[in-house]
Amino acid sequence: MALLQLSGIEAAYGASQALFGVDLEVAEGEVVALMGRNGMGKTTTIRVACGMLPARAGRIAFDGQDITKLPSHKVARLGVGLVPEGRRCFAPLTVEENLVAAARPGHWDFEAVSKLFPRLAERRDQRAASLSGGEQQMLAIGRALMTNPRLLILDEATEGLAPVVRQEIWAAIGKLKAETGLAILVVDKSLKELAKVADRAVILERGQTVWTGGIDTLEREVTDRYLGV
Ligand code: ATP
Repeated sequence: MALLQLSGIEAAYGASQALFGVDLEVAEGEVVALMGRNGMGKTTTIRVACGMLPARAGRIAFDGQDITKLPSHKVARLGVGLVPEGRRCFAPLTVEENLVAAARPGHWDFEAVSKLFPRLAERRDQRAASLSGGEQQMLAIGRALMTNPRLLILDEATEGLAPVVRQEIWAAIGKLKAETGLAILVVDKSLKELAKVADRAVILERGQTVWTGGIDTLEREVTDRYLGV
């Protein structure tokens, strides 16, 4: 059974419809890449999955439970940890305060997050506002982990970061997969990095799921058609 299942999702911003039929599944322990060119509906799909934007049609289930109409704080409580586009930490709080504020009981505590991102431990007492972009991203991922989610959703977690910092983020995602078997839904522009870590890909085109399958079965023709510029 899928941990997260979106079927026939439609959604709109006011009168402007953005999703026209999104189907997406993430199984327990699976890493799924949500792909598609700019503006095709990836972030909107994530917002609907997290209860931040209502679905106009379709159904969302988490661990078999219908969550289609559930508000975002309840979806979070069920075990969906979101790392939103553009990070969003509490700037005036320190690294440790940011992490502790998000904490819910489970494997992930300050110690465990520090092991994954040693830089956060080094910056423990620094305010989030004073961190580099990469460190803020690590903090955003750490915050989501501190909620001890069953599914982690990463929206453009490497965007705008220096290559060396990107590598650190990808390494952490690889570790999460290998060592914890956490289910992950990831949006990113780097097909090369996604191919290393993801099991399956779901491709959106104009708000619709147009391709889904093993990421290692993605053929050139498909990437050219749906991901090429
Ligand atoms: P990107 O990679 O650029 O973030 P995306 O695949 O995540 O793209 P979305 O951000 O989900 O795409 O956008 C899907 C569609 O919805 C686009 O046509 C976009 O212009 C529109 N849209 C997104 N956010 C809003 C908003 N707040 N109000 C109105 N329309 C929006």
